[in-house]
Amino acid sequence: MIKQAEYIKSIVDLKDEPEQLPQILLLGRSNVGKSTFINTLTNRKNLARTSNTPGKTIALNFYLIDESFYFVDAPGYGYAKRSKSQKDEFVIMLENFLIYSKNLVAVCLLIDFKVGPTVDDIETYEFLKNLGKDIIIVATKKDKIQKTKQQKQEQDIKKRLGNPGTFYAYSSVTKQNIDQIEAEFRSRIKL
Ligand code: GDP
Repeated sequence: MIKQAEYIKSIVDLKDEPEQLPQILLLGRSNVGKSTFINTLTNRKNLARTSNTPGKTIALNFYLIDESFYFVDAPGYGYAKRSKSQKDEFVIMLENFLIYSKNLVAVCLLIDFKVGPTVDDIETYEFLKNLGKDIIIVATKKDKIQKTKQQKQEQDIKKRLGNPGTFYAYSSVTKQNIDQIEAEFRSRIKL
């Protein structure tokens, strides 16, 4: 269980990264349930603000977890509402973060269990794989699919992703697999 979670800062320039601790990046398209996932994992109602929060800046948001590692929350992709220049600048920063951050130990890619992997999701997954990243896939909102159809949906999602190594179906309603996902994160943190 995560005991402590604290918002540290939002950065738009990689030189402003906080102190050297292991980082886990959380990625996913807007509305995938990423803020809810972070809030559920950390037992906090409003630690991560939803993508719909007005004026939420396009930045990497750092949350210090149990004083030992960071969750790095990237804005949801699907940047339609943002201006082109903002989008380009952020995408470049995110790519640089992925390529150069020495403290990034894993990337948690969130995918909507009901919607399945979108073109953006698959592109992002391929990009991360090509960079050799350690990827943990979390398929959110499993509760939105009828119980009798869940197994088939999970198989379909995995197939479309080319059978990823680390995959968890998840729901912030039932909290299924939350302990296993946290254990995956912790196993990447070498203290
Ligand atoms: P974000 O844009 O990725 O940060 O997504 P949010 O966390 O704001 O969630 C988007 C919407 O999906 C909200 O209305 C949430 O209440 C809902 N949601 C998030 N997780 C779940 C889940 O596991 N199950 C269900 N049924 N709804 C969820």
